[in-house]
Amino acid sequence: MSPLTHLLGSWVIAVHTTKTPRDCRLVTLAGILPDLDGLGLIGDLCSRGFGLRPTQFYAHYHHYLLHGALGAALIAIALTLFAESRWRVLILALLVTHIHFLCDFLGSRGPSPEDLWPIFYLGPFDKDPMWIWKGQWRLDAWPLRVVTVALFCWSLQLAISRKFSVVGTFNARVDAVFISVLQKWREDILCSISRWGKLK
Ligand SMILES: [Zn+2]
Repeated sequence: MSPLTHLLGSWVIAVHTTKTPRDCRLVTLAGILPDLDGLGLIGDLCSRGFGLRPTQFYAHYHHYLLHGALGAALIAIALTLFAESRWRVLILALLVTHIHFLCDFLGSRGPSPEDLWPIFYLGPFDKDPMWIWKGQWRLDAWPLRVVTVALFCWSLQLAISRKFSVVGTFNARVDAVFISVLQKWREDILCSISRWGKLK
C-alpha cells in the first residue's frame, strides 16, 4: 500500500491504543518505517539522471531489508527506546509493522500483472519463505483508494475530537496550526448549515 495509507492507518490505531502524544507518534512511525528500504529509488533516479551506471537498489532491497521479522524487531526496539510506556509501544510497534506487511502483501502490485511484490519474512538473510499473492491489488486499485479516503475522513474526525492530528507525528507546531484551521472550517460549515436551516 502507499505510504500515505500506512501513515493514516497506523495513526488511527495509535490514537486508540496509546496514552501519550509521544507514544502515539512512535507507534505511527512504526507503520511507515518499513518503507525506508524503498529509499534506494532515489539512488536509482540519481544514477539515471546523472548518466551514471544504472543501479537497481529499489528492485533489490525494497520489501527485502525491512519488510520481515528483522525489520519489525529493529523498528520496534529502536522506537521503544524513546517511549514512555515501553512495553505498550514495543508490542504495538510489532503489531503495526506486521499490519504494514499484510497490507503490502494484499496491495502493492506495480502496473503489470507480473509486477508482484512478495514479502520475504526472513529477509535480508534468506529469500525463503517468500509470501506472494497472485491476486495482489495494484498500488492504486480502487479498493485501496476507498480505504485511503475512508482513513483520511476518519483521521480528520479524530483530529477534531482529540485536538491533535497525524501531522503531529512530524511537527507539533504545524499540527497546532492545522488543528486550528480544521476547527475554523468545522465552525464555518456548521454555521452555514444552521443559517441554511433557518432560511428554509
Ligand atoms: Zn511497505
